[in-house]
Amino acid sequence: MIPLGNSLTRRDIASVLHPYTNLRDHQKKGPLIITRGRGVHVYDDDGKEYIEGLAGLWCASLGFSEPRLTEAAQRQMAILPYYHVFTHKSHEPSIELAERLLKLLPAPMSKVFFNCSGSEANDTAIKIIWYYNNALGRPKKKKILSRLRAYHGVTVAAGSLTGLPNNHRDFDLPIANFLHVGCPHYYRFARIGESEEDFASRLASELDQLIVNEGADTVAAFFAEPVMGAGGVLVPPKGYFDKIQKVLRKHDVLLVADEVICGFGRVGTMFAIETYGMQPDIITLGKQMSSGYLPISATIISNPIFEALVAESDKIGLFAHGFTHSGHPVAAAVAVETLKIYEERHILDHVRAIAPHFQDRLRGLYSHPLIGEARGVGLLGALELVRDKPNKEPFDPALKVGDLAFELAQEEGLIVRAIGDSLAVCPPLIINDAEIDELFNRLSRALDRTHVELRRRATDAEPTAVPRIARA
Ligand code: PMP
Repeated sequence: MIPLGNSLTRRDIASVLHPYTNLRDHQKKGPLIITRGRGVHVYDDDGKEYIEGLAGLWCASLGFSEPRLTEAAQRQMAILPYYHVFTHKSHEPSIELAERLLKLLPAPMSKVFFNCSGSEANDTAIKIIWYYNNALGRPKKKKILSRLRAYHGVTVAAGSLTGLPNNHRDFDLPIANFLHVGCPHYYRFARIGESEEDFASRLASELDQLIVNEGADTVAAFFAEPVMGAGGVLVPPKGYFDKIQKVLRKHDVLLVADEVICGFGRVGTMFAIETYGMQPDIITLGKQMSSGYLPISATIISNPIFEALVAESDKIGLFAHGFTHSGHPVAAAVAVETLKIYEERHILDHVRAIAPHFQDRLRGLYSHPLIGEARGVGLLGALELVRDKPNKEPFDPALKVGDLAFELAQEEGLIVRAIGDSLAVCPPLIINDAEIDELFNRLSRALDRTHVELRRRATDAEPTAVPRIARA
């Protein structure tokens, strides 16, 4: 960690309120100041190099130095640096981006609404769903369902959708009419002897029961990330979305696919709804849409929803929703350029070619005594650290084992994400085989060091608390 003598560090502590940070720890430790990026690497102000194993926040798909994106931003800045899309106004970058997205999506979608973040994309989806049900004369059909451990953002509505305790505790969330159903993590939540299919059936019947209990006339929509990202990289069990969608259709409940992490090739298809056979009514996108270079996101709606919005806005006078920076021309131009690069460089073929190696190396770490589960798909994965591997017994959360492994990985020159005691990996899509090897070599060293450190800490208190290391 950066010594506190560093003047940038002192200025940061004096001035910046950090998201997702223990604010007391931050006063002691200070920030890691990143000064530049190149390819899959970033560098701190001491010149130390890191592999960015999470592509920033699951977003920098084209790495940290793509000149075409810089040039696209410069070009658009010089032509029209700002304009909006309210009140019948428009501009070329937002039109071109919307057209390209509609062409790229596998499902028949009708219109694209632009926002600046994934949270806003989901908030917009919720407001559209409420407006839609009012338009259809169903004022009671307003409850929104999502899953425990889901991550859909942090604004008041998106934060209510999110199913993680830290996003609710002391923020007075979730607000009313947001309900959470079971998390589809087979390793953690399947019953003994339950197959993946049986587990999926049980979750679908729990969903069915909840909708029946609440009254189908009060339940509007179900939000789901195809693969849950910030909840721990949780891949759905076999048959899950087929079974869930049957229940939703039966009760006339809309499906919203949150593709904010999965979209644009992350799981090996352009959108993860293809991989998992999802037919959503609304799709939300963000992050890799601009390779994370500028803030832009989208809420994409089906034609029946659009038609209802048209009728209602005509009846009441306005569809009064939008942000100052909805469809910002520079962000949109960078997103258009990002999509062009994905196509020209066959990014999907690249992901498909290297994902098996990525998954092999990830799953290879399952042999480590600390790893209870190695899971993932495409260029997305996680390792779950456990105290007792055969019994899947987790560590005491107070030990903060995930944080320890995260810190040691950083010392080894690798940035990952600790989600409780899971370590998430989600590198830039442009990563190559040699860089994948280096990423997992560093991760492996960090796990060994975590293991040694845990044994050292446990020696006095409880000599058998941590399994013996089974390899060099
Ligand atoms: N949905 C998903 C699936 C996400 O992973 C995230 C962010 N990690 C969001 C929504 C929220 O996006 P943002 O942070 O841009 O508001």
